[in-house]
Amino acid sequence: MMSSVTDARGRGLHDLRISVTDRCNFRCVYCMPKEIFGRDYAFMPREELLSFEEITRLARVAAAHGVQKIRLTGGEPLLRKGLPDLVAMLAEVRTPAGEALDLAVTTNGSALGFLAKDLTNAGLKRVTVSLDSLDEATFQAMNDINFPVQRILDGLDAAQEAGLGPIKINMVVKKGQNDHDVVSMARHFKGTPFILRFIEYMDVGTTNGWQLGEVVPSAEIVARINAELPLEEVAPNYSGETSQRWRYRDGGGEIGVISSVTQSFCHSCSRARISVDGKLYTCLFASTGHDLRELMRDGCSDTELSEAMANIWRERTDRYSELRSLNTARGTGAKKIEMSYIGG
Ligand code: SAM
Ligand code: SF4
Ligand code: SF4
Repeated sequence: MMSSVTDARGRGLHDLRISVTDRCNFRCVYCMPKEIFGRDYAFMPREELLSFEEITRLARVAAAHGVQKIRLTGGEPLLRKGLPDLVAMLAEVRTPAGEALDLAVTTNGSALGFLAKDLTNAGLKRVTVSLDSLDEATFQAMNDINFPVQRILDGLDAAQEAGLGPIKINMVVKKGQNDHDVVSMARHFKGTPFILRFIEYMDVGTTNGWQLGEVVPSAEIVARINAELPLEEVAPNYSGETSQRWRYRDGGGEIGVISSVTQSFCHSCSRARISVDGKLYTCLFASTGHDLRELMRDGCSDTELSEAMANIWRERTDRYSELRSLNTARGTGAKKIEMSYIGG
């Protein structure tokens, strides 16, 4: 049995996010703005994508190093052809203790109506659905393809009927765009099995034109909800949980806030990402990755692959969010990788 690997700051490797496609049917303004990701945008050619076998091989090696959670993301992961087959392959992977991985998918929800059942039958347990507003005009302006809210709500119901759970809903809050919907979203999902989480708008990639002034601090989000629907703080599920939990005082369930900008959590970040073409990134804000696909396609052994992964992790010092204010002030601007490629 292999022991889990730790990085240069003593952080373990427990969480792996895998981008299975860089394509998406949405053009969310904060992620894949239409002006950049237009008709002539060069997405990754098919042969560049990791195959399901390659993804599963990486998952197996990562599990041996301490990874317990795998999240499939993108781009829109449900657009990847045969996704349930990949889920079935990953459901077979075991940790050194012989346990199955905690397998989840983050999706915009647009195809859950068709795929929720197949994904569950393949062994998927959990899903996170992104939904930025219940207001038709606001939601359509944010996804920028006029996709209707109701289709996402139908997808949520399909996911629940299929037995996926707990289902989380991610709302990215962007000032002046959807922050007026914070309380109505809270009200809508209060008392339902869905756990709503508010995410601070982040400066990922270089195409969304992020400005600090467009971030609504989590503390303000909590205060706005608390003023109408009283809340109390809940202890984290586990140390290093990215989401800060709050529950309604009247027993109406809980919400979460993810304060990636105002309260960074780099000190406990145990997350690695694998891009759609098999590069390992040790931070969401990294500008370079480590090419594991090349190693695999060059015929490396499992031991060599395992050593490569461990060595990359051992050297990791990333703490971008902790340093963000410093960098923002200095205006330093190494080119960052887009979220759709690296996996959100
Ligand atoms: N397409 C899927 C979806 O939207 O759920 C999965 C990929 S998406 C990149 C993953 C998550 O990142 C989504 O919840 C999305 O809202 C979030 N996201 C994208 N750009 C962001 C940004 N600039 N700041 C904060 N969250 C962002
Ligand atoms: Fe697509 Fe998700 Fe990015 Fe929106 S956030 S453009 S749904 S990848
Ligand atoms: Fe982890 Fe990088 Fe985000 Fe910090 S900035 S929490 S190191 S991904």
